[in-house]
Amino acid sequence: MRDGDDYVIDGSKMFITNGTWADVVLLFARTNDTPGHKGVSAFLVPADAPGLTRRAVHGKLGLRGQATAELALEGVRVPASAMLGPEGKGFAVAMSALAKGRMSVAAGCVGIARAALDAAVRYAGEREQFGKPIASYQLVQELLSDIAVDVDAARLLTWRVADLVDRGEDFATAASQAKLFASEAAVRCANNALQVFGGYGYIDEYPVGKLLRDARVMTLYEGTSQIQKLIIGRALTGVSAF
Ligand SMILES: Cc1cc2nc3c(=O)[nH]c(=O)nc-3n(C[C@H](O)[C@H](O)[C@H](O)COP(=O)(O)OP(=O)(O)OC[C@H]3O[C@@H](n4cnc5c(N)ncnc54)[C@H](O)[C@@H]3O)c2cc1C
Repeated sequence: MRDGDDYVIDGSKMFITNGTWADVVLLFARTNDTPGHKGVSAFLVPADAPGLTRRAVHGKLGLRGQATAELALEGVRVPASAMLGPEGKGFAVAMSALAKGRMSVAAGCVGIARAALDAAVRYAGEREQFGKPIASYQLVQELLSDIAVDVDAARLLTWRVADLVDRGEDFATAASQAKLFASEAAVRCANNALQVFGGYGYIDEYPVGKLLRDARVMTLYEGTSQIQKLIIGRALTGVSAF
């Protein structure tokens, strides 16, 4: 709400990555009654602003080395100069950040998938059952080859986004495609790698359990897989299903 030369912000947001570590918060708040995204503006708010409280979210399945927080704002007063971009144009700021965010998530997923491949191939060569390395069994090779194909496909889709960014071309839909595929692939790869490890994959001594736990959130944040499909569907048809 506008108050003289200031804005006074109320609201809350669950699940903010690095929320308890950040010095500055990029937030989106409704500043006028226009329905939909046209009423939303972007602000940069100091994390120690009076009225802003942060609570660490504990008990996550994965990403345990990273802080996730809930933020609550009660009467947080910022000068109008804290607004990022024009009034009512916050959605455009969010969208430009989100498309690059999706590319970053896709790249992170390629890293998880590649780590799963490396760990699974190494273990398959070391572990012996029935007198032979498990790498010599066809069904284990199927798991490894499924991981390898997912890694390459996810990487190529991610490279395509980076190439579009470098060329200064529109990359939003390609970023959604890369994020959708790479995040689902990272979960598949980590899961297949865990299968290669057998029972040892299920305990903390080996790395694949952590890869699976960390991969799982990738299909959720920066837009769930379902939302990526809606974005891709909208680009294909020109019709928004959400
Ligand atoms: C560890 C972690 C870190 C996060 N970090 C951040 C952060 O830094 N900043 C931030 O803003 N958010 C962050 N998030 C939030 C994250 O982006 C959301 O959790 C995610 O977008 C899903 O929103 P939601 O949890 O409200 O689920 P919901 O929107 O309630 O969705 C629940 C289910 O319904 C489906 N669904 C919802 N709407 C539709 C629709 N229209 N059509 C089809 N299916 C639909 C979803 O795909 C999902 O399967 C983080 C979340 C986690 C878990």
